[in-house]
Parts: sequence; structure tokens; C-alpha cells
Amino acid sequence: MDEAANTLNFVSDFLGYRGRLAPSPTGLLHLGHAATFWTAYQRALRSGGALVLRVDDLDPQRSKPEFAAAAVEDLDWLGIRWQEGPDVCGEYGPYLQSMRLPLYISALKELIEGGFVYPCRCSRKDLTRMTQAPHDEEPLYPGTCRATAGRILFSGFGEAMLTGLSWRFRVRDGEAIEFSDGHFGRQRFVASEDFGDFLIWRKDGVPAYQLAVAVDDAAMKITEVVRGADLLKATARQILVCRALGLPEPAWFHCPLITDEHGRRLAKRHDALSIRELRASGMKPEDVLGRAAAKVGEPNAHRGPDL
Ligand code: GLU
Repeated sequence: MDEAANTLNFVSDFLGYRGRLAPSPTGLLHLGHAATFWTAYQRALRSGGALVLRVDDLDPQRSKPEFAAAAVEDLDWLGIRWQEGPDVCGEYGPYLQSMRLPLYISALKELIEGGFVYPCRCSRKDLTRMTQAPHDEEPLYPGTCRATAGRILFSGFGEAMLTGLSWRFRVRDGEAIEFSDGHFGRQRFVASEDFGDFLIWRKDGVPAYQLAVAVDDAAMKITEVVRGADLLKATARQILVCRALGLPEPAWFHCPLITDEHGRRLAKRHDALSIRELRASGMKPEDVLGRAAAKVGEPNAHRGPDL
């Protein structure tokens, strides 16, 4: 660890800011990641805090170790420095989600015992028929299994509950979830309108994103989550998970997204705008960051009404 990182670590112990970078190693990082992760780095730096690198590699089909290695290298090349992560260790590891399964299992157990979740047997085909909430990646679940589940009380928690069925968080219809975002201001989402009963645990035995992230951010003592505006609605769900598990809520700062020439948000398929490609074309870190900053546009984020 270099001297600057050491100094940061010391100061963060004192001031307490803890931020994180949480790439999913399912592809190469692109300009959008550069903009968001640079913002996360700058916010940690300005707060005299610590930055944690956590690799969100839970999806066994899509995550590849070579993408995790590429992400670490690209972030380092951009000049982003972190004080904890899979490459430097730290007090709150392991820093690969795939190595943190026991934490997610015990959170699931707690949610089952508290009656916050119910088992769902809907197939992938059933799910693709469901309506898509605007601006969201997860279909609005119509509650098919909610109706039959009732409030299930289990006499014991067992391995059999981890595969073959998924678990959904039961939202309260019409409940408004409000939070203040460091960039976009007041946000408000309504359960069963903006999102339905959401996945907590997948049928294939993999914890769902909403559970893993809420559990890890609390366990790693993250005080501010900086990430893309496409996750604003995910934040509302994660707040519900935090409340159910009695976990502290971090502060939120969502960054405007970068879009392509058709106004679509950048995805990992946009290889031409991957940091790798831009590096290979001879661009320097400051050119990549400058281009990212120039491309950041405001109107694509889902804004809640101003309160
Ligand atoms: N790993 C997630 C992603 O790359 C982001 C997680 C987060 O910042 O909460 O989409």
C-alpha cells in the first residue's frame, strides 16, 4: 500500500467515511463505470475517508475471474486508489461476494423467520410474461405465489430452502419509500407501483443482488453508496431489506448515466467504449476521464417528484 493510501486509512478511522466500488465482473468496464467510480473515489478522497473495492461476482454463469482482474487493472490505470479489496485485504473481507455466502444465508434465515419473505415457484417463463415497470430491470411481480404463501412459519431452517425455489420480499402495497440522494435530491418510490415483491434468493441457490448488497454494505460499514442512477429504484428495495434486518442505511449518491449516440445507457456490450479499448487506442487516463465527464448527461435518470 502506498503512503497516500496509508494516510487515507488513518484519516478515515478518525472521520469515518467509508465508500465502495462494487463492479460486477460480467464484462469489461466502460466509460460509464469510469465516471461513476471516479466520482466515488473523489468523494472518499474529499471526505478523508476509505474506499473499499468489492467484487460483486455472485452470478456464477456471468461472472468471470478475468473480468475481475481486468476491472482491478483498469481502475488502477485510471488512477483510482482503494484501501481495502481483494488485492490488498482489510478488516471487512473477504472482498469477493462469492466468498461471503454464510452471511447471505443467515440474512435469508432471519428474513424467513421474520415473515418478510415467501417462497416463489414461478418459472422463468412465467416471469417473462410479467409486465415491466418503467425504468427497471426486474419485472413487476404480480404476486402469484404471495397469495398461496400466506405467512409461513418454519419450524427449522434447512439447506433444502436454498435451492429449487426462490424467495421474494413481500412489499406493503402502496408503501412510499423516501430517501435523500446526494445528487438527485429527494426520491420517492411506491411499493407495488414502482416495483413489486422482489427477489431475495434465486432458485439456483444464488443470493439476489438486493440482499447481497444490503448485507455487505452494512457488514463493511459503508457510510455512503456511490453508484449509477440506474440503481435508484434498487435503493428503495435495499432500504426495505435494511429495515427488515435492522441494518443501518448508508447515505446515497447516484451518478447521472452516460448514454450512447442513441440515448441508450451504456452496457457492457458497448465494447468500443470499454476502458480497455480506449487505452489500446492510445488514450491516457485523463483523456478517458475527460471524455467520460463530457458525456455525462442528466435527463436519463428516473427522478422521483420533488418533495
Ligand atoms: N455490482 C453492481 C453493478 O455492477 C453495482 C452494485 C452497486 O453499486 O450497488 O451493477
